[in-house]
Amino acid sequence: MKAFSYQRADSAVQAAAAAFRPGVKIIAGGTNLLDLMKLQVEAPSALVDINRLPLDKIEDTSEGGLRIGALVRNSDLAADARVRQRYGVLSRALLAGASAQLRNKATTGGNLLQRTRCYYFYDITKPCNKRSPGSGCAALAGFNRIHAVLGASDHCIATHPSDMAVAMRALDANVEVVDRQGVTSTIPIAEFHRLPGTTPEIETALKPGEIITAVTLPPPPPGAQVYRKVRDRASYAFALVSVAAIVDSAQGRIRSARMAFGGLAPKPWRSPRAEQSLANAPANTATFNRAADAVLEGAHGFGGNDFKIPLTRRTLHSVLAETTRA
Ligand code: SF4
Repeated sequence: MKAFSYQRADSAVQAAAAAFRPGVKIIAGGTNLLDLMKLQVEAPSALVDINRLPLDKIEDTSEGGLRIGALVRNSDLAADARVRQRYGVLSRALLAGASAQLRNKATTGGNLLQRTRCYYFYDITKPCNKRSPGSGCAALAGFNRIHAVLGASDHCIATHPSDMAVAMRALDANVEVVDRQGVTSTIPIAEFHRLPGTTPEIETALKPGEIITAVTLPPPPPGAQVYRKVRDRASYAFALVSVAAIVDSAQGRIRSARMAFGGLAPKPWRSPRAEQSLANAPANTATFNRAADAVLEGAHGFGGNDFKIPLTRRTLHSVLAETTRA
């Protein structure tokens, strides 16, 4: 690990101003950043610690939703009674992520900003456009079992690793940010994470000199909430495919559905066409097939990850059957 300076921020604006300077990294839980520093994927000249900022509250909003401070730990968010009762999909997604020790440290803001788990991104001897723009992508012809089947580009086929963000995408969360002038703004989570295109090194809509201060959830939509994660191990493993679903149904008919997918794309993935196909439709195999066709429109594998396409179909069937069971 290379030497770096360390300071604590006294305010979010001070932290945002520091983050504007090249080589400066914000640290909160550090559960991803410290690994990246040990491997020299990240080599910051300075760390600015935001752990003492008052961003660790979960508050009710006047609209009937929740405002989650950026420093709320994943374990605290999963255990909050309001989250468990009204946003069960989020609580379950959080508990499906990482390990208990990591969830105790990892923060809401940091979870959104975690980097891909592509093996080649972490190996500085291998070409990787995300780590070293223009160097190539070792995963394209390499070991790509965990990589994307939707939303990828010739420059990068990495997936986003978060479970929490998948549930937040289904819940239409908004990300609150503040810049170095103290101006706050809100980014819908659908626009927060970017597809790689020709610039896979730019992963989010966060601009230099902006930091996340909170995530807000609108009031919970009606319906049964499920988070299903398919992975190689029962714990402490990233999703091969995950589905966050909120399905409102009665007497064998679906009124409305929201679904977000993890493990498939460089960002939590949603298909408006799939959700439209489920609205006011009978809860049967033909309907589920149409929804899966819509989700997987344009999907293609790279050899090692071809299995994700049929796995997504089966997982979606199972989730829709569970959420529409009378
Ligand atoms: Fe790098 Fe993306 Fe290719 Fe992985 S998939 S090696 S992160 S460019």
